Amino acid sequence: MTDGPTYGFDTLQVHAGAKPDPATGARNTPIYQTTAYVFRDADHAAALFNLQEVGFIYSRLTNPTVAVLQERIATLEGGVGAVCCSSGHAAQIMALFPLMGPGLNIVASSRLYGGTITQFSQTIKRFGWSCTFVDFDDLDAVKAAIDDNTRAIFCEAIANPGGYITDLDAISAISDDAGIPLIVDNTSATPYLCRPIEHGATLVVHSTTKYLTGNGTVTGGCVVDSGKFDWSANDKFPSLSQPEPAYHGLKFQETFGPLAFTFHGIAIGLRDLGMTMNPQAAHYTLMGTETLSLRMDRHVLNAEKVAGWLENDPRVDYVTYAGLKSSPYHDRVAKICPRGAGGLFTIAIKGGYDACVKLVNALEIFSHVANLGDTRSLIIHSASTTHRQLTIEQQRAAGAAPEVVRISIGIEDADDLIADLDQALAKASS
Ligand SMILES: *Cc1c(COP(=O)(O)O)cnc(C)c1O
Repeated sequence: MTDGPTYGFDTLQVHAGAKPDPATGARNTPIYQTTAYVFRDADHAAALFNLQEVGFIYSRLTNPTVAVLQERIATLEGGVGAVCCSSGHAAQIMALFPLMGPGLNIVASSRLYGGTITQFSQTIKRFGWSCTFVDFDDLDAVKAAIDDNTRAIFCEAIANPGGYITDLDAISAISDDAGIPLIVDNTSATPYLCRPIEHGATLVVHSTTKYLTGNGTVTGGCVVDSGKFDWSANDKFPSLSQPEPAYHGLKFQETFGPLAFTFHGIAIGLRDLGMTMNPQAAHYTLMGTETLSLRMDRHVLNAEKVAGWLENDPRVDYVTYAGLKSSPYHDRVAKICPRGAGGLFTIAIKGGYDACVKLVNALEIFSHVANLGDTRSLIIHSASTTHRQLTIEQQRAAGAAPEVVRISIGIEDADDLIADLDQALAKASS
């Protein structure tokens, strides 16, 4: 099919990037389980290696099954290109790699997936990169954190763990003024609920492990490029604007224009860092994307019902779901996530740490796991698991206080989820 702006989201999530297999007519996208591809002749091989012709060389760089998924996610996000990789964390490194170097920094929201906080506060230091964390509701603090060495701003559209909504329009105005890209992790929202590029994002990253695949089967990640950033506009991004020694002095921005970042991601990023998505994973994620809107509508509907019930329960202290009218983030839902506030939120239980531990033990439908964005409803008590090494002050700052549990609402019957929470809350408060 030819992808045009005339097709709606539900059509694109099924068809974008895919067509019947030219070799066999297979209607579903085959899993191209191959490492390498035969060159037509020596000239063809030379043209491919010079980036003069686009084609398949070796599956660390490109694979036809993965390519379909890349085009599908780019289309759903409204980007010009995408690079898939082995996990969401790989996607974050792939997004930062062309922008960064020793001594350079990023400014990131303090409300992020726990693993991202660790990656940005600890691991990237080994590359000589650093991260300043600030409250993204305090726009003056975001501006003040940017200095001459800042190369990107990073946040989540629907932010962990509370399901808060980030004002992407306000943040992208700041990144535009500073002449640096805004990178938005759209994992918790998905392109069905939020399209960050329409709110000024330069790059969108995903953990496809979550809602895009949808059922907890494979890990994967993706970096989508809006194609809107001119990497030559200032001297901050030499990897994209200056001659690349590994390709006879080719300049990515000059040669590939809006596709500069995507070509760099494949030709340098995947080639040299090797964080490649395998075709099996792409296959599972392609199947997941076909039902994305159906699942997200149900996640949202269920989250609204369950959060509304919890809010009125005397055993619960507060619920952070932005879809509730009582949420301070409720006004941003219509602007940033017009189809709903997602399926992720936290609740605080009146009985504190002990009641939370009893609650997660007593639940029967909800699974106690370190994951989100599954068809199954999931819960985690961060203070006794992922955040247990932190002090109570650090736990509170991360939104993982001892009395708080994070919930990822699945697509089961909302009434069954409520009944399960009801019986478990009874046990937790006895
Ligand atoms: C899970 C997750 C990640 C990391 O993704 P992996 O696929 O587990 O590497 C990053 N950001 C968010 C918001 C996530 O939920």
